[in-house]
Formats: sequence, C-alpha cells, structure tokens
Amino acid sequence: MMTVLTNLLDLDPAQLVAYCGDLGEKPFRAKQLQRWIHQFGARSFDEMTDLAKSLREKLATRAMIAAPAVMSDHTSTDGTRKWLVDVGQGNAVETVFIPEENRGTLCISTQAGCAVNCRFCSTGKQGFNRNLSVGEIIGQLWMAEFELRKTKGIAPGPKGERQITNVVMMGMGEPLLNFEPTVTALRLMLDDNAYGLSRRRVTLSTSGVVPMIDKLSQECPVALAVSLHASNDALRDSLIPLNKKHPLKELMAACKRYLEFAPRDFVTFEYCMLDGVNDTDAHARELIELVRDVPCKFNLIPFNPFPESGLKRSANPRIKAFAQILLDAGLVTTTRKTRGDDIDAACGQLAGEVQDRTRVQERMQKMAEYQKKFGENFGKIVEITQ
Ligand code: SF4
Repeated sequence: MMTVLTNLLDLDPAQLVAYCGDLGEKPFRAKQLQRWIHQFGARSFDEMTDLAKSLREKLATRAMIAAPAVMSDHTSTDGTRKWLVDVGQGNAVETVFIPEENRGTLCISTQAGCAVNCRFCSTGKQGFNRNLSVGEIIGQLWMAEFELRKTKGIAPGPKGERQITNVVMMGMGEPLLNFEPTVTALRLMLDDNAYGLSRRRVTLSTSGVVPMIDKLSQECPVALAVSLHASNDALRDSLIPLNKKHPLKELMAACKRYLEFAPRDFVTFEYCMLDGVNDTDAHARELIELVRDVPCKFNLIPFNPFPESGLKRSANPRIKAFAQILLDAGLVTTTRKTRGDDIDAACGQLAGEVQDRTRVQERMQKMAEYQKKFGENFGKIVEITQ
C-alpha cells in the first residue's frame, strides 16, 4: 500500500504537536521542526541536524515539506517581484512582493478564482476554481521569504534579516470564504517559532462577508481591510453582488464590532476609483456620512481597466479632488501608487484585487507552450551547479 505523505506545511503549531505525538515524539520536537521549516526554509529532513537520525528517517517516509511550484518569477525595475505559482489542475495564483523603504510587503492569494464576482475584478469573471490549502497559502510566504533571501545572499534562520515584514491577503480570492485554511495560515504567520509577525503587520482584505468578519474577530483578529468601492447600497449591489446579502449598514456595524478585537484602531477601506461610477463629489460626501461612526482610513485605488469590465479609471485630478473631500472631513486618505507596471503587477490591481486576472490563464498556457519548446525548467527557478 502506498503511504500518503503528510505535507507539514499544512499543519499549524497545535497540529504539529499532535502529529509529533502520533509519532511518539515530545511536543518540543514540533517546535524544532517548525523552526526548521518556517525559519530556516528546510526542504528536507536531512537538513534538520538537531533531530535524531531515527526521527529524520521516520519523517522521510511519512511526511514532506511541499510548497506550490513556482511557474514564473519576474522582478520589476522598481523591485516589485511577482511569482506565478502553480496550484495544480491548471490553476495558478499570483504572489507579489512589494519592497518599500522600511518594510517588505507580500500580497498572497487564498483561492484559485473567486465566487464573489465583483464587476471591476476579472478574477470574478474567471469564476471560482477551488480553495487553496494551508500549505498553498503559507507556502507562498515560505517560498517568497527564502527566495528573496537567496537572491540577496542572506542566510536563512532567525538571525538573517527578514525580508517580508508585512503580509496582505489581498491577492486572488475572498479569504473569508476559505476560512479555516486562511486562519490556520494566519496562526503560522503570527507564531514565534515560525514567522513571528505581529497582528498589526498582517492584513486580511474582505469584500464584506459579515458573519465571517465576526468569526475572525474571535479566532484570529489581524488588521482588517474592506473592499468598499461604493457609498450606497444601490451602487454597491451593482459592483459587489455580495452586498445584497450583507448590505452596508450590516457591514459598517460588523467593522465597528471587529475594532473591539482588532490590533489596529481603524479599518482600512479600499476604494477603487471608477470613472463616472463612484467618483463624484457627491459620492465622497456620502462616504463621509456612511463611515461616520467607524474609525477608518481610506485607500483610493486607481482602477486598471480590462475590456470585459466596461469600466474606466478616474482621471488623476478627479482622484485628487475626491481624496481632498475625504481629507477635509478628517479622514486619513492615501492613493495607492502603481508599482511593478513593467511586470504587469500594478499595485492596486494585484494587492487591490482589481487586476485583469484572466491573464493568469493566458500566461499559464503560454508558459506550457514555452516549456514544451525550451524544456520543463523554462520560467522556473533552477539552481545551477558547476
Ligand atoms: S475583488 Fe476580491 S472578492 Fe471581488 S471578485 Fe475579485 S478577488 Fe473576489
């Protein structure tokens, strides 16, 4: 009989303790294992030199450390690095690293495709394919951290300078509709024997799944961002169909409840600027009323148009005027810069969920053609040994 190997990237700290218990090992072994995997980026049990040889051998026959494979890896002139990650069955998701002066932010995906079908997002047009597993979610962070270190020649381990200081769950998918794996991955991000990120530095972005916002506040409150994009229900119904189920009044109340548990004292509202749709002075004033009781910050995202949307990006002076109305009302408002344009990773598209993600499928097809032509390592990170 073939043994199915357990992917240790799928296990959170408590599950790893239980797994070690099943192998007849003490709980501290789980901590050691976890450090090897998440702090040293170990791919094989041979590397885990402080584990008894017998345990390493046992693990090699029962377990594995398997992150999703990288299909392509591109770095923009501004340092933004984007990986296309294979999650099987013809699906791929994008993971993007955005370096800034004092921090490095990784934007990760939680689902292949998305069922929410927002009008301004082509992931929605692509439909829902499947939920990512814990290993596929945390595997994006694992892969990115150790690839970035390798590129910079920084040693793995807690002493080496950490490359990813912030994580945003704003890539493909609605994280709260893949709740358990998302929360398990969050726990690993926060764990001191793994990535040790503070709750303030991990942000989950949702389109407004109200009951799950409450659940998150109880299970793993991290910083919260909400894709708002509209100032009234009629408009939001037309942009985000989920609004019909959880209208703005409910959503605002959920945000307020969440803040009682959140690591930050505000919610970030993402607002995609759509020409003539949601960007008038009247919309800005309506927004001010809407969020009157919710401590918040606004992030305005210049829309990156894609043909099927029938929508256009607001002109820059309009975005500025809109921002000014919010600022004058005392609301902290930022406008997202576009990053990584040359690698098709314009921020606010990737991190802001509004990218033409149908292109993921096209790129995957192209990649398959190239691999046929140039060999299976085309577009992959390969180590060249002399
Ligand atoms: S914006 Fe987010 S929630 Fe809406 S369809 Fe796109 S990925 Fe899904």
